[in-house]
Amino acid sequence: MIRWQSSRFAKILSRFAGTLRELRAEVRRRLRVVHRAPGSRLIVPFGSLLTLEPVCCACGAPCSSSRPPARAPRVAFGPLPALEIPTCPACTSNAVAHSRFELVTALGAVVFSSTALIALFVARPWAAWPWAVLCAAAASALALLLRLARRRVPLGTTAWHAAVARWIGRSSEGAVLESPSDSLRAQLVAQGCSARFDVVVERDAFALGLCSAGCSLALAPLLWFHAHPHLRILNLGETPVEVAIDGRVAAELPPVWTEAPNVGARVRVPIGWRSFVTRNKGGEVLDRSRAWLPSDAPALYAPRPASHCLWIEQRAYGATPAPIPSVVRLSTGSPLHVLPLRVDAWFQANPAPATDARLFSGGVRRALRFGPCAVAPSP
Ligand SMILES: [Zn+2]
Repeated sequence: MIRWQSSRFAKILSRFAGTLRELRAEVRRRLRVVHRAPGSRLIVPFGSLLTLEPVCCACGAPCSSSRPPARAPRVAFGPLPALEIPTCPACTSNAVAHSRFELVTALGAVVFSSTALIALFVARPWAAWPWAVLCAAAASALALLLRLARRRVPLGTTAWHAAVARWIGRSSEGAVLESPSDSLRAQLVAQGCSARFDVVVERDAFALGLCSAGCSLALAPLLWFHAHPHLRILNLGETPVEVAIDGRVAAELPPVWTEAPNVGARVRVPIGWRSFVTRNKGGEVLDRSRAWLPSDAPALYAPRPASHCLWIEQRAYGATPAPIPSVVRLSTGSPLHVLPLRVDAWFQANPAPATDARLFSGGVRRALRFGPCAVAPSP
């Protein structure tokens, strides 16, 4: 029975793996713009001094320019034999255009997804973070699909648009060079390099495009959280209230009389101009305001009577000199406060410094406090 189950499980697993393989092959076939041509794989010994005729290895035209072979990622770093491949300006620009296209596709994934995210944050600021990921995924996929616009070079054609020669690895005998060029093979073999015929495949930077799409996907939620900072909401009035931001109920809060670190509500609100409306349970509007919410400063929305005040207490510890002023009062005008200083504690007093604390370098601790204006400390 157990054997039957395990064999069935293995069969399901292998079928699943087969489907995955097929899917991967299909995606590669459709998205990768692969150039193939009959060519050769050459072993070039390290330290060999090779001279090549001043004839373009790609098209055979006489030329005076040359460039080093391209490098596959696995030999991107480290020493390789000194070799310059004679390439005419036209073939050089073909190869450069090819690598530039790969780079543009990869960068396109980042540019497209950032543009899509900005558009989403502007058009639908309240969209939840999975929408940001979805947007980035769709935009990256669009950038990768641009590859389909690239002209395919059929197998065996002489129109080779990619690198004329590419270092693809190292072996004990030397570095491995891949090239579709017959003249290059003939010249290198005549100078002692070993060669075998092969189908040369110009490997594009599909992995680079996928990496950049992956980075865009990973960055999307981070950008969303940056564009939707936390806003503290506090009810310092006398009756329970309902606070709506841009017409959406953000919090229903009872009145708060005493300080505690967790009083009020903490909600994520998109940056930009936001409309706030506070109503009591009877539907009476107690506050209606519009204010700019930044992403880089802590903010607090606290509708309250004029008799209640908010202030930031600063206290120095250790050898740090006392900050001036020690108390920063928040304005009594708008109920939305973008705090002028980063605070370490919300709605609790700074602890008293230890008696021997002057031995330490210390620092300044800031606490946001509230209470009746009559008992608020003056700066
Ligand atoms: Zn050429």
